[in-house]
Amino acid sequence: MKRAVYLDYAAATPLDQRVKKAMEPYYSEKFYNPSALYLAARSARHDLDNWRAKVASLLGAKPAEIVFTSGATEANNLAIQGVMRQFPECQVLVSAIEHESVLEPAKLFHHKEIPVDDKGRIMLDLLSNLITDKTVLVSIMMVSNELGTLQPLREISSMISEVRKRRLKSGNSLPLYLHSDGAQATNYFDLHVSRLGVDLLTINGGKIYGPKQSGVLYVKAGVKLQPQILGGGQEFGRRSGTESIAQVAGFAKALELAQLKRQQETNRVKELWQFFATELQKQFSGILFNGSDKHLSPHILSVTLAGVDNERLVMELDEVGIEVGTGSACSAASEEPSHVLKAIGLNSEQARSTLRFSFGKDTTKTDLSFVAAALAKLASHQ
Ligand code: PLP
Repeated sequence: MKRAVYLDYAAATPLDQRVKKAMEPYYSEKFYNPSALYLAARSARHDLDNWRAKVASLLGAKPAEIVFTSGATEANNLAIQGVMRQFPECQVLVSAIEHESVLEPAKLFHHKEIPVDDKGRIMLDLLSNLITDKTVLVSIMMVSNELGTLQPLREISSMISEVRKRRLKSGNSLPLYLHSDGAQATNYFDLHVSRLGVDLLTINGGKIYGPKQSGVLYVKAGVKLQPQILGGGQEFGRRSGTESIAQVAGFAKALELAQLKRQQETNRVKELWQFFATELQKQFSGILFNGSDKHLSPHILSVTLAGVDNERLVMELDEVGIEVGTGSACSAASEEPSHVLKAIGLNSEQARSTLRFSFGKDTTKTDLSFVAAALAKLASHQ
């Protein structure tokens, strides 16, 4: 069925045809298990190594620092559980607005949530106060999937370096690692790991016009992880299971394309964000824009439209061919208002009147004018 306007790119992106083409050989003539010894399998291994090297170079990392996973959920679990299982008496800090795939594994350990301000930004002094001698991992996402807010990762990383130096002096030999979930950042931001200052970084293929259930965890050399999936010792012993070169190739190609057009897309989508915000402002006098307008990824626009029932509106928009999310697609089944909206101070009623629009490669101003007009019409009948 042909849809008129899709505005939920933060939930899923369509597969790029160039990505599909890169994947296809590994379903047919190059189907081999890369661990086998005969020539054709060794050639498949060679391809896998090349794709890994490509991903590594796009991130400014070494190939051995790249662990291919089945997406961001697995990468986040590997980061949190892989570090924390080695230090069961120690503590992990996670921001209050993390995705469930960070929050839930963190709950298995001693953990604390780092509060955010009303724009969804980490407050550095609060984070600094929360770090104790027993903190071994801090996990803070690059871009919020619900708000679009961008976190000050560089500053956070510098602060963590200072703590490490103090620990060295005081004889505390515990490590302190910084993990970031970059699942929503890849189409718009530089992901060079040393510029970001991270020890662990999650990226997801399904948000960058690549295959779903593909992604990586970057693991800086020297960071020890306890593997979560045991078996044949693939991925440098960090994630067992026969490698899917098709998924790897699709992910690597998607990452390459995303990083190539990142700057151009950022400029284009920023303009769309501004345009749509202005259109909505014209239609809704009591509109509340959630998240930061200074520190944001331009593909996400979260708004609260007073008096509107967001789930009903999403259904009504769908009937006129407009696909939009209420916020976190991943917890859409839950009755509870989103923990992210709560963390920035919205009450339950406001949370139930909140919609998340997210833009992508096919979004145009014409689409957005159409959506703003449809929204105004439907909301006035609620
Ligand atoms: N982290 C963030 C920030 C996300 O937006 C998502 C998906 O929406 C995930 C993690 C989980 O990704 P996946 O379900 O592809 O593993």
